[in-house]
Amino acid sequence: MSKIKTIAILCSGGDSPGMNCAIRAIVRTAVHEGLEVFGIQKGYQGLLEGNVRPLSASSVGNILQHGGTILQTSRCPEFHEVETRKEAAHILKRKKIDALVVIGGDGSFNGAYKLQSEHGIPVIGIPGTIDNDISGTDYTIGFDTAVKNAVDAVDKIRDTANSHARTFIVEVMGKRSPAIALNVGICTGAENVVLPAEKIDFNKIASDIDRGIKRGKTSSIIIAAEGEIEGVGHVIQKELKEKFNISAHVCILGHIQRGGNPNPMDRVLASQMGHLAVKALIADNKCHATVVRLGKVTLAPLQECLTKKTEFSLDEVDLVNTLSI
Ligand code: ADP
Repeated sequence: MSKIKTIAILCSGGDSPGMNCAIRAIVRTAVHEGLEVFGIQKGYQGLLEGNVRPLSASSVGNILQHGGTILQTSRCPEFHEVETRKEAAHILKRKKIDALVVIGGDGSFNGAYKLQSEHGIPVIGIPGTIDNDISGTDYTIGFDTAVKNAVDAVDKIRDTANSHARTFIVEVMGKRSPAIALNVGICTGAENVVLPAEKIDFNKIASDIDRGIKRGKTSSIIIAAEGEIEGVGHVIQKELKEKFNISAHVCILGHIQRGGNPNPMDRVLASQMGHLAVKALIADNKCHATVVRLGKVTLAPLQECLTKKTEFSLDEVDLVNTLSI
């Protein structure tokens, strides 16, 4: 017999499309297994405020097709403090919640890991972030949809760029993660990708644009990850103009990448992960994450997923460069 009778779910950090599918899967699996489920509104902040409500099979009806999260999310800097996490653990115990499922990125996983290691509360992390930057999992929920959203936008930009023979710099999300920029670059036939924390090679960008024009291209698209530099698109625009006399338009895609209906891939992944999270708690797993490896959804120790994955393959950069000659 499982010791777990009651579980709670929270979303934390940036929202990602597919979080609702995960919530639905957790709730429906838990109800199916005879567990009680609570939703914590607004992440760790909501937990500290006791913002907790019961969820039933019907309360998660008609949500799986919507982006965002019905539980809302937040950032809660106080959660870095030992005393705050102690208070959070008390609240969970007072409410007779036996285990917690946290849907979020590596920061949220860090909070969950500490709740478990310091207070013994069983936790399962579900990777939900558009950045696909959690170690230990090939994909995170929301990444595929965010890429699709950006690709749709860049395809539209390409139409107008071709009509006017223009160069566009399209800024996509990814402060530290290159994943969206690389995938959007491949999908849209971008002439260049600029990745976070990489030195920008303006000479290469300018010579690629020039070479394209010489071989009859009617437009150029540079995909730039937003990175830590404020307004990277405008930085590139200014440099191209001043050093190479190349005029370029900047388009910042911003939050449209996060919103909208989750793609089938994210819906399937989130449903499988939500289901597995509940099964894992029932089977007495105490500190794990649901991950996807080689196409299979499975469990990994949460600790393996705590570092932000920022590495990227130079092969993918080569692919963008080679296919856009
Ligand atoms: P993400 O989960 O998407 O990576 P953040 O890094 O902003 O997003 O983290 C979300 C929240 O998780 C933070 O606001 C904080 O409440 C909690 N958190 C993040 N890092 C830690 C940490 N090292 N220790 C405890 N809690 C953390």
